[in-house]
Amino acid sequence: MSHGPEKRGTSTRTMRGRVVTRARNGVFVAPGKNSELHFCRVPSKGKSTRVNMPVPGDWIVYDPPSDVTDGWVRGIEPRISLFRRYVFARIKDIAANMEQVLLLICPESPVVSPRLVDRMLAGASAGKLEPVIVLNKSDLFSRKRIEEYLQPWRDAGYPVLVISALKGNGLEQLENVLSGRDSLLFGASGVGKSTLLNRLIDDLDLDTSSISRATGRGVHTTTFTYLYSLPDGGIVADTPGIREFYPVVEADELRFHFPEFEPLSEECAWRDCLHLDEEGCAVRAAAEDGRIHPARYQSYRILYRSLLEGPDRGRRHTDHEQT
Ligand code: GDP
Ligand code: ZN
Repeated sequence: MSHGPEKRGTSTRTMRGRVVTRARNGVFVAPGKNSELHFCRVPSKGKSTRVNMPVPGDWIVYDPPSDVTDGWVRGIEPRISLFRRYVFARIKDIAANMEQVLLLICPESPVVSPRLVDRMLAGASAGKLEPVIVLNKSDLFSRKRIEEYLQPWRDAGYPVLVISALKGNGLEQLENVLSGRDSLLFGASGVGKSTLLNRLIDDLDLDTSSISRATGRGVHTTTFTYLYSLPDGGIVADTPGIREFYPVVEADELRFHFPEFEPLSEECAWRDCLHLDEEGCAVRAAAEDGRIHPARYQSYRILYRSLLEGPDRGRRHTDHEQT
């Protein structure tokens, strides 16, 4: 076969693969299971072959690198889900095509506020991922303390797991939830993501850091999201620990991401009721008499206002939020 000069984008060597992680100037792609990763650059602004930035979990077509050329991303396939967040006023895409997101939380050390949990749950819904709440460090708290903390989400009907990554409690159940599926592991720094991953995947030796004594916060150990294959099939995406989270959703659409509001909203006096101060709002009435957990309704109102004002301003407010 002769190889004349090849026009970009028409290469016969084009391959398909999945983005495993990214670097500052490109992405690492797996063309198959357990195969060596290909590094590919992304044609940037101004080029006729420009493509959007792929994120971990994306399926892409690409020209692989050779001895003489860089690898190049050619296109991104349509996504079934996209988990994103605001970082100040800018949207950051975290991972694509994940089926579910495991929100790792704990009531203390570090404190994960119920407001933050509700913002992450709304973000999961907006990105079309099924959320699973995973309370870690169960060995540190009484059963009563754990159930009080979890009550709002139990009431709302979210799936909840209670585990101790350190002691190994509840891990079998968690492995069942992960098995054969593509999952994103997400949570605040210090909740135990690295400890959990080390448990789930043999030979993985992630740096688990002790909570910094000065700040009471965990130290970041992951810089970019990374897809790991699980021994029983399925993928788990490890993400950098966060301190804040704002979902990418329009304020007027937020109500659709609080699933327990839905059945009641049909009884609201106004068909497109926002469940704020409207007369005859059945959702607000339900929050007042406890059929909807008041903490969830409060989260809704606060987040609605933050999104309306702009998530960067919202962040400044909530940095001082007491919950
Ligand atoms: P990451 O920042 O989310 O990756 O958190 P790490 O895995 O680094 O854990 C932060 C700290 O919490 C470390 O000191 C861990 O030993 C501790 N830790 C993690 N899981 C548990 C748990 O289930 N119980 C207790 N008591 N400590 C845990
Ligand atoms: Zn209403």
